[in-house]
Amino acid sequence: MTTNQSKMRRTRFRPSSLDKLALCGLFCGDENRGQSFKERGDGFDITFREWVPRGLTDEARKFCDTGLAWAIDQTRELAEGSTIYSDKENCTIGFANFFQQPGEADAIIPARLCHIDLKSGQEYDYRLQQTAYALGLMENYFADSWTAFVLYCDLQRVVSYRFTYKQALAIIEGERKNYDDPGRAPQANEYCDWCVNFPVCPATRHLAGQALMVREPAIDFEAILADANKLGTFLEGCKAIEEYHKRAKESAIKILLHGGHVPGWKMISRKGSDYVEADSLIELGLTDSRICYPAIIKKFGNMGGEKYRELCALFGVEPKAEHIKQSGGSVYLKQTKQANK
Ligand code: SF4
Repeated sequence: MTTNQSKMRRTRFRPSSLDKLALCGLFCGDENRGQSFKERGDGFDITFREWVPRGLTDEARKFCDTGLAWAIDQTRELAEGSTIYSDKENCTIGFANFFQQPGEADAIIPARLCHIDLKSGQEYDYRLQQTAYALGLMENYFADSWTAFVLYCDLQRVVSYRFTYKQALAIIEGERKNYDDPGRAPQANEYCDWCVNFPVCPATRHLAGQALMVREPAIDFEAILADANKLGTFLEGCKAIEEYHKRAKESAIKILLHGGHVPGWKMISRKGSDYVEADSLIELGLTDSRICYPAIIKKFGNMGGEKYRELCALFGVEPKAEHIKQSGGSVYLKQTKQANK
């Protein structure tokens, strides 16, 4: 496989990149992807930092995401009554070596020599990120050992890692050595679709090419299904192709939107739908009934316009036109009858 590494961007050596860099030394996160997860994570961060030192009141708990409330309770349990730092200033982690910029924990419990890192969504491997944080915190607190607790809010699961200073130092030294290795080659992995290098990466292009390579008039799909090794390789190739497919569709839509022509394809637009925000429902006073607590409405979010009108009729309330909003429409590609030859 030939690599054209001059076109590939490199990420900085920082704690949050370490676990991805261990899978592929050329991974570089695409900041434009995963914005909605980031926004949710930021919301969790603010609420967690605010409430963890004093604990949730009954009123605050009603409005708090269940997983986040669990994380706040869990952190307080882990602290066993000792001081929890959760403000950004006290949670900044300085590093003596390796990293140019400081890291940031979600909470630090100095008396228990541990820190807390909140995660939303599914479970990934964050061992190296936690090693880096533990190393910095052992330096900051002159400690010989440290425990990292990763709290997966949505899964309500705790994963802990314990390090001595020597262990953490050796691990990060090793990762730095790998990062500086000029001979590193891209290795396709589960994070490729989050990587800014994806369009030019020789590893993913190779995989996609492998899956598309058809020697006979058609692929021998039965043979692929019957052989676990072939199946694994085929799926890897398909994953790369899926991402290329997604990006190719985005490009075709751009061309068509600008009046261009893509043989075999046309653009279809879908009208947006009307909806009412949860806050408007609460404001409308549909919360008097036992079944319509504001917390429940908040939890389930916006409501479609039609359901809103039905609900108003049920409560004998006049629907408010200004509360009914229109979601943005969307466009998608459709193959024309004449396939592109
Ligand atoms: S796309 Fe995948 S294999 Fe290529 S550099 Fe990025 S992470 Fe590595």
